[in-house]
Amino acid sequence: MIKLNFLIFNSFLGGQRDAEVSFIGATMYPILILHGGAGKWSGKRLPIALDQLNEIARDSFLILKTNGALDAVEYAIKYMEKSEIFNAGRGAALNLFGEVELDAGLMTSDGKVGAVASVRNVMHPITLAKIVLQETDHVLMVGEGAEFLAKSRGLIVPKDELISDYAKKRWESAVKEILQRVKGKITKHPLLDYMLTIFPHLIEFIKNNTSFLEHIKEKYGMRVSDTVGAVAYDGKSFAAGSSTGGIFLKIPGRVGDTPIMGAGFFASKDGACSATGHGEAIMKTFLCKRAVEYAKKYGAEEGVKKLFEDVSKELNIRAGVILLDEEGNWGVYHTTKYFPVAIISEERIIIKDHWV
Ligand code: ASP
Repeated sequence: MIKLNFLIFNSFLGGQRDAEVSFIGATMYPILILHGGAGKWSGKRLPIALDQLNEIARDSFLILKTNGALDAVEYAIKYMEKSEIFNAGRGAALNLFGEVELDAGLMTSDGKVGAVASVRNVMHPITLAKIVLQETDHVLMVGEGAEFLAKSRGLIVPKDELISDYAKKRWESAVKEILQRVKGKITKHPLLDYMLTIFPHLIEFIKNNTSFLEHIKEKYGMRVSDTVGAVAYDGKSFAAGSSTGGIFLKIPGRVGDTPIMGAGFFASKDGACSATGHGEAIMKTFLCKRAVEYAKKYGAEEGVKKLFEDVSKELNIRAGVILLDEEGNWGVYHTTKYFPVAIISEERIIIKDHWV
C-alpha cells in the first residue's frame, strides 16, 4: 500500500481549505480525478459520498499506476456504479415511469471512443462502453443491440438490483405530486419544484400525452441528479469517462450528455474532461470538448473558470467539470451547490464537496 498524505477538505468534516491553494495547478502525474456528481446533495448523503470517493480514489490510483489511464477510469466508475450513493448503475435516478435507463461513455487520448445509451438491466454500463471502445468499430450503441452485447458478456443483472430504496422513495413521492398537479392541485414539494426548473414542460407534456399519464398511473399503482465520472493521466495518455442514470423524471428514451463524446466526456492529447449536471445544456455547449480547448489556451484552473463564464452568457447552466490539461494540471469547476470530487496523485489526495 502506498503511503499518501491524506487530507479531507469539506464543510462537513471541517478542514484547512486555504492551506491547499498553492497546490492548485501543480504538475504531478500519474494523476486521477473522480467526481460523484454535481448537484444539491442532501446533508446525510454527502459525507458518505466523500468517504467512498476517498476509498475509490486510492484503489483506482493503484490501477492507474499498474494498468494505465483507461483501466483506472473504468475501475473508478465501476466502483461508483456499484455503490448506491451515486446516480449511476445501482442507485441511478429513475425515469418518469420509475425505471432505470443508463448511459455511459469513455474516451482515450489516442482517439478511441465507446459509449452506450439508454441501456437497462446493466450494472456496469462503463464496462459495456469499454467493450464498444475496444472490440467494435462503433462509437455509440443503444437499446436492444447494446443489451444483447451486455448479455453475451454476462453484464445483465435483474432489474430490481438497480433500483435503490432511496431512488424508489424519491420517485414515489414525486409521482404522487405529479398526479396531483396534472389534476390541478398543487401542494408543497421542493424536489418536484426543483425538477420542474430543469424540465419546465414536464407537467404539460404528461397532461397532453394521456398514454404517458396512464402508464405512470399504472406504474405508480404497482408501487414499484448525479452522474459519476473520472479522468486520468498515466504520464503517457489520458482517459475520460462518465456514467449516469440520467436526470430524475426524464421521459423514457431521453439520452443526456453522458454518452455523447465532446459533451459529457472527452479526451485528446491536450487533456481529458468529464462533465455532470443538466445534460441538455451540456450537450448544447459541447462542454467537455470546449473545456479541453480552454485549458490549452488558459491553463487548467483558469480555463474551466473562463469556460463557465462564457457558457453562462449563452445559457443558464447547472453543471460541473473535472479536467486535466496537457501537462497533467487539474481544474475543477461547478455552478451547482455541491460537487464531491477527489484528486489523487503520488503526493496526496484532496477531497472536497465544493470548489468555487
Ligand atoms: N448529466 C446527466 C444527464 O443529464 C445527469 C447528471 O449529471 O446527474 O443525464
